[in-house]
Amino acid sequence: MLRIQNFIGGTFSDAASQRCLDNIDPSSGEVYGAIPDSDQTDVGLAYKAAAEAFDSWRQTTLDQRSKILLTIADLIDEQAQELARAESKDNGKPLKLALSVDIPRAAANFRFFGHAITQFASESHESTGQNTLNFTLRQPLGVVGCISPWNLPLYLFTWKIAPAIAAGNTVVAKPSEVTPATAYLLAEIVQKAGLPPGVLNIVHGTGNSAGQAIIEHPGIKAISFTGGTKTGAHIARTAAPMFKKLSLELGGKNPNVIFADCDYQKMLDVTIRSSFANQGQICLCGSRIFVERSIFEKFKNDFVSRVAQLTVGHPAQDVYLGAIVSEDHRDKILHYIAVAQEEGGRVLTGGHKVVVQGHEKGFYLAPTVIEVKRADCRVNQEEIFGPVVTLMPFDGEQEVLNYANDVPYGLSASVWTSDLDRSMRMSQSIQAGIVWINTWMNRDLRTPFGGIKASGVGREGGFEALRFFTEAKNVCINYKTT
Ligand code: NAD
Repeated sequence: MLRIQNFIGGTFSDAASQRCLDNIDPSSGEVYGAIPDSDQTDVGLAYKAAAEAFDSWRQTTLDQRSKILLTIADLIDEQAQELARAESKDNGKPLKLALSVDIPRAAANFRFFGHAITQFASESHESTGQNTLNFTLRQPLGVVGCISPWNLPLYLFTWKIAPAIAAGNTVVAKPSEVTPATAYLLAEIVQKAGLPPGVLNIVHGTGNSAGQAIIEHPGIKAISFTGGTKTGAHIARTAAPMFKKLSLELGGKNPNVIFADCDYQKMLDVTIRSSFANQGQICLCGSRIFVERSIFEKFKNDFVSRVAQLTVGHPAQDVYLGAIVSEDHRDKILHYIAVAQEEGGRVLTGGHKVVVQGHEKGFYLAPTVIEVKRADCRVNQEEIFGPVVTLMPFDGEQEVLNYANDVPYGLSASVWTSDLDRSMRMSQSIQAGIVWINTWMNRDLRTPFGGIKASGVGREGGFEALRFFTEAKNVCINYKTT
């Protein structure tokens, strides 16, 4: 049994209440460990440790911080196998995906911000004629809260923590209670890398208890949150009246728009990934596929036959899809497949559980393609967050733009076309924070990342993240010229 502990002030401990939560392996459906069921007492202790560490951490040189972040990155690389195995077991994702995407990206997050902080500059404004010079200080906020979801556990946890500590803040962080394992291992790594006690404090537990205590804590100056839109709205309602800075990265219902003039083979290969990578549990997955009518039937046949061959199985095996993260989540996805059929949608492949021999209680689902009749049906409007995509034909550019934009969300979009003018028109008109043309999930960590509408507020990535985790203070000096 894996017994996970909180990491507060550089020390590992159970929840003050001694309460625990079960940690379930989605590939077998069995409890394989316990995590602390922390509450406001634990968050209070974590805050205290973070507040005590802040004064000295904020005064470290950029070089000192950079060095520690780069060491953390190297240690993650060194322990990649162990971390990937833990991530795969905790989340159900294929081990090879954890090894090729999640863990390398966690190292890259620390490496990126380890370098970025040495290049982060602020502005100065000279007011000629008034003999004044303004310059902007970028000061750390103090103790900040970082809360992350289960789909890319270490990848998204570190995407917040790295810029927060690089900018000189100290952190109270909470990973998802569904996937706590790699955050626990990260605590050992940061300790080994020489991060001073109290700079990063990791509190495990549920959203309603530990998470709620973080967002409500009067001393925590900012909340960087990634998760569902409903939770994001709740966090905004709680934290905004306390004037906390907020970065909210929320749900998506992303369109994948395919024009007949695209590079067909490349589009088909990438569309398999953008639909089903990580069992479709990536906020950026293109879950609504719109195909120009002249190639709709061909695409439908080719796509469905490729999807039907995707392998589903135990995540430690060489499979394309592992297990869904939890039983509740699998049931939610099955519910949406039923809703689609009630609304007149036709399941072209999948739509059912998969029983994996030797792991009969695991939470497996077949990759599912549903042909829908209307762009405004529920399964095209609500986030499912699983291995389910919808297909619909379209005739014209304006028509598909309307379909693409007619959702509450606005996170990302993919467009497939070889017409440069059209790619520009679509990029300008699609309501999303990120538009990919002839690609998907191609990420340069310097670029702004985030959504519009119900997909959130604020941008992560590059200097945007360092701006979020610092307060701008303008200093105006009036000087004599003689
Ligand atoms: P969730 O909102 O249920 O939980 C996310 C985190 O918030 C967890 O750590 C949870 O414990 C915590 N939480 C829950 N209630 C809370 C509360 N009252 N106060 C404070 N914290 C609370 O989301 P999830 O199911 O873990 O993740 C899936 C969602 O995340 C999907 O909607 C997906 O689109 C979204 N997501 C978005 C992005 C992005 O970058 N926009 C990336 C990944 C996932």
